[in-house]
Amino acid sequence: MKPVAFDYAAAKDVASATLLLTEAADEAKPIAGGQSLGAMLNLRLARPTVLVDISRAADMRTTEDEGDAILYGAAVTHAEIEDGVVPDATPGWLAAVARGIAYRAVRNRGTIGGSLAHADPAADWVNVLTALGAEVVLARKGSSRTVALPEFFTGPFATVLANGEVISGVRVRKPTRTARWGYWKFCLKVGDFAKASAAVLLDPERNETRVLLGAIERPPLLLTDPSTVLDARGALADVVKQALPFLSEESHALHVAALRRALVMARSGGERAA
Ligand SMILES: Cc1cc2nc3c(=O)[nH]c(=O)nc-3n(C[C@H](O)[C@H](O)[C@H](O)COP(=O)(O)OP(=O)(O)OC[C@H]3O[C@@H](n4cnc5c(N)ncnc54)[C@H](O)[C@@H]3O)c2cc1C
Repeated sequence: MKPVAFDYAAAKDVASATLLLTEAADEAKPIAGGQSLGAMLNLRLARPTVLVDISRAADMRTTEDEGDAILYGAAVTHAEIEDGVVPDATPGWLAAVARGIAYRAVRNRGTIGGSLAHADPAADWVNVLTALGAEVVLARKGSSRTVALPEFFTGPFATVLANGEVISGVRVRKPTRTARWGYWKFCLKVGDFAKASAAVLLDPERNETRVLLGAIERPPLLLTDPSTVLDARGALADVVKQALPFLSEESHALHVAALRRALVMARSGGERAA
C-alpha cells in the first residue's frame, strides 16, 4: 500500500516545528527518522495531511552537558549514541544499548525522541531510559514542560504528548561513579523487538535501586519495592508473578530469566546489552 497524499515541511528548529504543527492542527505529525512512521504511513495507520520533518532541526540535533545530566536533542540518532559522536551520560551503557537496537540501517536514521514518542513497549530506549530515571522536555508553541519517563507513557504506543507538541530533548542523569547497571532483552533474532526485557540500576552513593520489567504490552514497569528483587535469591519467579500476574507461562519464564541476567550483570559491574 502507499501513503495517502501529504504535504511536507522541514523544521529548522524547535520553534518552527511547533509553529508548523500548531498551524496545521490535528492533521500534522512530526517525522524524525521515519523508521516507524514510514511503515504506519504505508499501511495507512497514520494519515496526516502534513508531515513536519524535525530530523534536521538544529536545536534537536545538539547535546548539552548540564553537569549532573546530559540533555540530548530529540533528533539525535541511535548510531550517534553508539558511535560516541555525542557524549554518553553513563559509562558506556547507552552506547551498548544503542548497538543492540535493530541493525545499522535503522540505527542510522532512528532517533532517541522518535523512539520514545512512538512508545513501543518493547523498544530499548523506552525501557532503558525509564530505568535510568530520564525525563523528556516537551515543547509546544510558546511553552515547554518536563515529564519524567514513567509518567510520559500512558499505554502501549500512547503518551502524554498533546497535538502540536514535540519532544525537544531527553535528559539523562549521570549515575555516580559506583553505580552498576544491567540490561537484558530476549529477541527471536537480531533486529527483532524484545519479547522480554529487564533493567537493574544499583547506585549506592545515591541510595537508589531501580528495577524495571519491559516488553510487557503496556508501559514499562518500575518495581515499587525493588528490594524484593535484591533479597529474592531464588524467588525471582514469585516477584515477577506478583508484578505481572497476566503474563503467559512462556512470557513469565522469559521475564524471570531477563531479570536474573540483568541482576547478575549489575552485580558484576557488567554493562553489556544483549
Ligand atoms: C526493522 C526495524 C527494527 C527495529 N528494531 C528495534 C529494536 O530492536 N529496538 C528498538 O528500540 N527499536 C527498534 N526499531 C524502532 C527504531 O529504533 C526507531 O527508534 C523508531 O522507529 C522511532 O524512531 P524514528 O526517529 O524513526 O521515529 P519516526 O518513525 O519518525 O516517528 C515515530 C513516531 O514518533 C513521532 N515523533 C518522532 N519524533 C518525535 C518528537 N521529537 N516529538 C514528538 N513526536 C515525535 C512521529 O510523529 C511518529 O508518531 C526498529 C525499527 C525497524 C524499522
